[in-house]
Parts: sequence; C-alpha cells; structure tokens
Amino acid sequence: MTVELEEKLTPLPYRVAFLPGDGIGPEVTNEALRLLRAIARLDPALSFETESFPWNADYFLENGTMMPSDGLQTLREFDAIFLGAVGDKRVPDHIALRQLIFAIRQGFDQYVNLRPVRLLRGAITPLAGKSTVDIDMVFVRENSEGEYCGIGSIQSPGLADEVALQTSVFSRKGVERVMRYAFELARIENRPLQSISKGNALNFTGVLWDRIFEEMCQEYPDVRAENLLVDAAAFHLVRNPERFGVVVASNLFGDILTDLGAALAGGLGFAASANLCPTKEFPSMFEPVHGSAPDIAGQGIANPIASLWAVGMMLAELGYPNWEEQIVSAIEQVLQIGSVRTPDLGGTSKSTEMTEAVISTLVAPNNARE
Ligand code: ATP
Repeated sequence: MTVELEEKLTPLPYRVAFLPGDGIGPEVTNEALRLLRAIARLDPALSFETESFPWNADYFLENGTMMPSDGLQTLREFDAIFLGAVGDKRVPDHIALRQLIFAIRQGFDQYVNLRPVRLLRGAITPLAGKSTVDIDMVFVRENSEGEYCGIGSIQSPGLADEVALQTSVFSRKGVERVMRYAFELARIENRPLQSISKGNALNFTGVLWDRIFEEMCQEYPDVRAENLLVDAAAFHLVRNPERFGVVVASNLFGDILTDLGAALAGGLGFAASANLCPTKEFPSMFEPVHGSAPDIAGQGIANPIASLWAVGMMLAELGYPNWEEQIVSAIEQVLQIGSVRTPDLGGTSKSTEMTEAVISTLVAPNNARE
C-alpha cells in the first residue's frame, strides 16, 4: 500500500537521449538541457534522466561511421531523442545525414516531420505588411520515404558517360498515413489544408499523391482542403501566407518550402521541428531545423530559440502541451521586450543569456493560469 502511494507521488523520469552533433549543435543542445532542467525544477510532475551520445564528425573520423552498429538499439530505450545539428566539412554531408539523421528517422518510422512556421510576437518577417496572424501554419512533411529514400546508383563514375539515378518511393501506405495525420490535424485545429504536389510533371509519384489526396477529401468533407503545385505554393507562401494552415508535402518539397517558411518567420534561428513516430512504437526525435552553422560555432552566440521551441514540441509529444505553449509565449515575451537578443536578431547577447531570459518568465504549472 505504502509502496504504491510512493510510486504515484514520485514521477518516473522521462529518459531523453541527446545527440549534440557538430558546430553550434552542442551549444544549442546545452541551452535545451538548461531549459529542461529549469522545467523539472518548476513542475513536480516532470523529471528527466538524460544521456548524451558523441555521434558526430569527430566520431566518424575515429570510427568510420556516424554511430555504432547498435546505435538504434541504444536509442530505442529512450522516451525521446534531442538532436542538435549535424554537419562538418571533414565529412561529406550526404554520408553524415544518411548515417545518422536519416537512419534514425527511417529506422524509428518517424514518418511525420512536423515543422511549425509561425511568426512569433516580437520577431520580424521580411514580408512587408504581414503580421503574426498572417504567418501561422504548420508543415506535415513526409519523413520516411519519397525522394529521400536513398535508393539509386551512379553508373560509370568519373567517366564522360557518367549517369546518376535517384529513385523516389511513394507507397500508398506511406502517403496515406502522412496525409491522414495532416487531415486529422486540420480537423482538430479547424484550419485549412494544402496538399503540395507536382502531379503535372511527376507522372507517377505525383499522380499517386494527388489521387490519395482526393480520396482523403472524400473522407474528410469538413476539412477545407486544396491541392497546390509546389511552384505555385512557393509563390503563394510569399504573396499570401495567410492562405496556409496545415501543409502536407513530400520529403523534398517539405524540406525546401520549410526553409522558405523559416525565412518568413524571422530566420533559421526560429525553426523548430519534430520527427514523430505517431504509433509511439519508437521514440520521436526533436531538433532545430538549422544546420551546424560553422561560421558562428564556438562563440556562444547561436540563437537558441529553435532549440528551446523543439524542447516544447518534445514536451507536447510526451503529453504536456501546456509547456510548449508556455515556452513559446516566454520566447515571445523576451522578443517583445527586446533587450536580450543574439546577434542574428540584431543584438549582442550570448545564447545562454537568451535562454536565461526565457526561463525567467516561466512559472510553475499551478500558477500558470492565475
Ligand atoms: P550545415 O552545413 O550544417 O547545414 P550551414 O552553415 O550550411 O551548415 P546552417 O547551419 O543552417 O547551414 O546556417 C545557415 C546560416 O544561418 C549561417 O550563416 C548560420 O550562421 C545561420 N544560422 C543558422 N542557425 C543559426 C542560429 N541558431 N543562430 C544564428 N544563426 C544561425
């Protein structure tokens, strides 16, 4: 009886694996950890056990691989994974990405890459005349197959008749499940949905994508859904960002359009993302969208906002959406006051100062609604 009671009073810690990576990755990961510890101090319902894994370019140069052969088995034991950034000129990007990020996304069936594109209060968009109400959408990017499935070959390498073949894989199962995730989200949040395609030129994969979109429209008649060609979507994102709500796109199109989205929302320092395994069979992975930014690495000046927001997305996925809301509104408060800003936002503050400013506006959950 006593034991049972004690178990209820002491929350089991969530186990989070940290992969700091390269460049500014370890710096923004430290800021994420700082925030996580602050939240554990504020919220008696939450505690975390964290472990860091040094799987980066240095590891590759020593071991010839980005992670050990049992890396996925190791990560599987965790409730969530947090990734800083991967990229180092000593290791070709396509090898580093394939052996670490894609291996985790595909190995853990993280088929949804959720990327909010939202202009926060206090952030500045390069679009004239557009405000926070206009730039507020979420991308649901297919994350497990499509153009990034990694199938292909190079024939006659180095010769004059060299040919590279890159295959896209669009399975009915793969398209249906990501599309369904997006339609459900649009329904729950009562937002319009845009499906991004290139069905006029991609006469196999695009056609299947569009056909499944039409089927979903029949199944979700209450969702205001439209199909946009990827080129038209790029145009409208700049001209009419207010048109977009939940945007579902393939791996490649989602990758490109969300960088455009990050620019609309104030820069790469604001772009957070979640690689979700919606069945929860495997852990999900959370990361800032930006890369290792070697030009500013080691100076302690990386904008930590994307990383802090990614922590919020992780807490939402673990069942604490109020914490994501609170983190985002704390970031907005800091941006609106404006006295603490990293150099990319026109200030002189260090990453740590920005995180501390965000933490200082957080309140314990019981006080949150007072
Ligand atoms: P990688 O090869 O790892 O992708 P990259 O420099 O090509 O690195 P990003 O890391 O995404 O690509 O950086 C693009 C630009 O944005 C760089 O000038 C970088 O300094 C800047 N940048 C990216 N992330 C941040 C951040 N968190 N804070 C400030 N500036 C950033």
